[in-house]
Amino acid sequence: MTALPRRSVLLGTLGAAVAGLVPATADPVRWFPGALRQATTPDPFTLGVASGDPTPDGMVLWTRLAPEPDAEDGLAGMPDRAVEVEWEVAEDEGFTRVVRRGTETATRELAHSVHAEPVGLAPGREYFYRFRADGHLSPAARTRTAPAAGAAAASLTVATASCARFGAGHFTAYRAMAADAPDLVVFLGDYFYESDSRRVRDPGPGEPTDLTGYRRTHAHQRSDADLRAAHAAAPWVVVWDDHEVVNDWKGAGPDRRRAAARAYYEHMPLRAASVPRGPQMQLFRRVRWGSLATLHVLDTRQYRMRGSMLGAEQERWLLGGLKDSQAGWDVLAQQVYFAPRRGGKSGTWGEFTGSRERVVRGWTEAGVRNAVVLTGDEHVHHANEIPGADDRIAGTELVTTSVTSGGDGDGGSPGGGSSVWSMDRRGYVLATFTPAQLRADFRTVAKVSEPDAAVRTAASFVVPDREPGLNKV
Ligand code: FE
Ligand code: CA
Repeated sequence: MTALPRRSVLLGTLGAAVAGLVPATADPVRWFPGALRQATTPDPFTLGVASGDPTPDGMVLWTRLAPEPDAEDGLAGMPDRAVEVEWEVAEDEGFTRVVRRGTETATRELAHSVHAEPVGLAPGREYFYRFRADGHLSPAARTRTAPAAGAAAASLTVATASCARFGAGHFTAYRAMAADAPDLVVFLGDYFYESDSRRVRDPGPGEPTDLTGYRRTHAHQRSDADLRAAHAAAPWVVVWDDHEVVNDWKGAGPDRRRAAARAYYEHMPLRAASVPRGPQMQLFRRVRWGSLATLHVLDTRQYRMRGSMLGAEQERWLLGGLKDSQAGWDVLAQQVYFAPRRGGKSGTWGEFTGSRERVVRGWTEAGVRNAVVLTGDEHVHHANEIPGADDRIAGTELVTTSVTSGGDGDGGSPGGGSSVWSMDRRGYVLATFTPAQLRADFRTVAKVSEPDAAVRTAASFVVPDREPGLNKV
């Protein structure tokens, strides 16, 4: 096949409407797989679909055309031509009530990735979406909009995850997360490891150093069905840490950072605001959940310098947002261990005590109702109470363990400093915010060295509204 069918052929009378958006009731034409023109090309939707960064009236919808995902040139078997990719958003899983449709042009420039940003959806509800291109229909997936600005929302369930080293084990945590169907997945960094080894399974194409290599590594990561299922279960809010570029960003020159940033954008459900500019990528941003919660998504990697974890501009942005906040829960979604402790991993907030003091003082002086820090990177679960200047508890930190990094784990408790509870197992955290409390469920996988291992809740804690401090359930 050399060219797309003309839109009018593909969609009949819908042709005129599809270029823009269609209202809920206008379009009876449905995308039955059987009604598609016979596809003569292989399925381009091998990497699955994803959504992210919900607002009250939309989100970003992602896919990438990749009929040969492991092609050595990193271009996934796509010819050098632009391809029109249609998307649709429906109120129901059967796509009988389609409320929006549109078309995006996928080009080789961005590895035939698609980032559609539908608008005009209803606040605070679930939607389903899928794509169509070259005679193929993508898998369908679930997403949702955020509640209306300032609206009282009954609850927000967030799954947090980090550190998914492909070669280290099976992504059972992702599968369980998909089954939990949270409102949001917040991914806190180390989406893959640029340097990996075959502990349990094939880590993929070897260490990437250029755009081709990073594209291939991302594509290999998405060969995992459990990861694709987690993306299809809920919108994700993503930030990177070090391994999306190179361990600790050591020796990461501008060329390598440019390649890593570009490939990251191409493979993540990020809005146009995050299109990289050279080696720079805008990832600090806010996601608001009505009046219930505000997520302040931080990038602790890109701007860090001597004496500052966040860099001056991001710190100002964070402190200003805390000052203006009216949210029930102010949630810092960020990468590295925050609470004070003795020793611990290098490159965490313990090496930036001035930054940490300014942030804690910032939320304390702002009088935020509840402050919570969501953290990754550590490869161990921790439930931490963050002390304030007066030694009273100023906030709560939920550190999620890794998806696989470090292997099965010994189930031990490394503890330390402000840690109330900790556990060396793989898994994720499920955090449920309501006006009355935060509930944190620390989910663990019995082992990642074998597929299909049991997943359980190893510990649960409740933080009541305006009473920072962890109460074991
Ligand atoms: Fe990690
Ligand atoms: Ca890391």
